[in-house]
Amino acid sequence: MNRFFLAFCYLLNSVSFSQQTEYVDFKSGTSHILALDPAEKSVMGKVVYEFEILKDIDSVYLDAVNLKHSTVSLDDFEVRHIYDGRHIIVKSHFKAGETHKLFIDWVVQPKQALYFVGDQIWTQGQGKYTSNWLPSIDDVNDKIEFDLSISYNANYEVVANGNLVDVIEKDSIKTWHFNMDKPMSSYLVALAIGNYDKRTETSNSGVPLEFYYYPEDVSKVEPTYRYSKQLFDFMEDEIGVPYPWEIYKQVPVKDFLYSGMENTTLTIFSDALVADSIAFKDRNYVNVNAHELAHQWFGNLVTATNSTHHWVQEGFATYYALLAERAIFGEDYYYWRLYEYAQRLLEQENKGESTALLNPKASSLTFYQKGCWALHILKEQVGEEAFREAVKAYLYKNQFKNVETADFIVEIEKASGQDISEFSKIWLEAIDLPQDAMVKSLKKSDFIREYLEVDCKLHPSKCNDYLVSDISDKAKVKILLQDTYGVKQEDFNNSWEVRQAIAQNLEQIPLNLKENYESLLNDKSYVTVEAALYNLWVNFPEERSKYLEKTKGITGFSDYNVRMLWLALNLNTIEYQSDKKQLVFEELKGYTDPKYGIEARMNAFNFLKLINGFDEESVGNLIDASKHHNWRFQQFAKNLLEELRNRPNYLELIDKNTTKQ
Ligand SMILES: [Zn+2]
Repeated sequence: MNRFFLAFCYLLNSVSFSQQTEYVDFKSGTSHILALDPAEKSVMGKVVYEFEILKDIDSVYLDAVNLKHSTVSLDDFEVRHIYDGRHIIVKSHFKAGETHKLFIDWVVQPKQALYFVGDQIWTQGQGKYTSNWLPSIDDVNDKIEFDLSISYNANYEVVANGNLVDVIEKDSIKTWHFNMDKPMSSYLVALAIGNYDKRTETSNSGVPLEFYYYPEDVSKVEPTYRYSKQLFDFMEDEIGVPYPWEIYKQVPVKDFLYSGMENTTLTIFSDALVADSIAFKDRNYVNVNAHELAHQWFGNLVTATNSTHHWVQEGFATYYALLAERAIFGEDYYYWRLYEYAQRLLEQENKGESTALLNPKASSLTFYQKGCWALHILKEQVGEEAFREAVKAYLYKNQFKNVETADFIVEIEKASGQDISEFSKIWLEAIDLPQDAMVKSLKKSDFIREYLEVDCKLHPSKCNDYLVSDISDKAKVKILLQDTYGVKQEDFNNSWEVRQAIAQNLEQIPLNLKENYESLLNDKSYVTVEAALYNLWVNFPEERSKYLEKTKGITGFSDYNVRMLWLALNLNTIEYQSDKKQLVFEELKGYTDPKYGIEARMNAFNFLKLINGFDEESVGNLIDASKHHNWRFQQFAKNLLEELRNRPNYLELIDKNTTKQ
């Protein structure tokens, strides 16, 4: 034990773990994942790294967290190495100019970055570190060409970075071989395994596009992936640099940690975004789709050296996603989103939580939305042509390398001939938002000017007529958020979006509007139907059975929003399906089971809380949820458990189940 520590300290004196890129360049990593065991939640694999010595050094290291077992050899020989629980450190007299091969066999039970979820296995490298399942380099500044092979049960589909070269089957185990030609940072290495079918298209430039889906979701493929090819073609045209990789795949997974993650050639996204054509209206994948795609250039092709420059990934991805959406949904949409971003940034500022864009600890809101705004303003300042020229030069010069903000600014100055220091001061370095400049920019849009002008408080005399005038839907929604007293029958002759705002905001339904309001139950929007069902049920108790009968076949979003409301209302409507209450309760409770997605489970737990309906089974599922890999869901479950403990009837139930597990 002591010896180990001494040796380790000595090594620390010779090279610190953050400086290795100066001395060593890892060129390629060829890895074979030999076994992924869902029962043990373990990974067994072997990898060969080729590296070049840039400066003389006495050791090189790889990041590798909590390995259960490892063997290491260098250029076909056993080699002196140290494993400290986080790094594999290999000692030798490495001389500048040499190239070597490092062979590692390992077994690990990853605590994060690779997740076994039901019968799926998927990874999340960014923020979690790929080194939790694959010995690799956490430092984003060493880009490596990764080729992955994965052996797994032949009944499943395996997807990973790069082109699928071949699949070899032996004894019901298939081995999928993937190839990449270009290097990337380790956090972008990814795999996804599950029960999938796929649809394919080809971009205008000839890049294969693969869209994965669960076999049961075949009817949702079109709305889920709507505009995908258009987004891809747009992005290549707009950026002016061809897509840098060989293929582009998108795969939904269960209980994902974020909306989406832009692994190189392989975007993984939350299956909560899988949508039918009705859900598409309110919640769709288009923005996330475009955002992750933009990262294939901004983030994957050029990667920020450290978090001070994180905005050159997230700000650019947010901005280019918005440009792509503008091409589909139009100019008003573009300005609307900018307006929304501005509102949220302003809220942050009012709470005193604003930071500079170049602050490495800035919030996501700052990196993403303020970054997007900065680029919007910069393009206004230097003009479309110079902006595009600069982006192109920036990407070409730094491709497959790492960048800092200055690498972009220098190209902007060159292309525009302008001094950008004032812009940099205001948008990159200052903490406060330049609110006047933002309002001025927003007011270039007629749509926004009208939106700001329309107001019941400023113009009470116009308030009654706004909803039957030809102002935009967004402006009408604004009116409904201010005041619903004046809603009249004609106001229902509006678009689904305005009708939705009526459903959500008109909670006391006057008798003369009852029929109009009931027509909201026919709208093709799950948000509208959910709000309308609830409000009608509350306002007209004598007609509850009618409303429940009308909506009994509607599931709603992937979180079962309409169905679960329906079940809860059913339980509180004694005269409706009085012989089925037990079945109805069982169904509602059933959605707390881990086989459902976290969004559905959260809804179910909330309804059980509301109707005070927890029992042993659902409490067991809640305790299970409090250990979930998704932090947001875990936190939700922990809070709810705490709350339930304070209700005397649950305390015993919770303690009994906690000790059982
Ligand atoms: Zn992003």
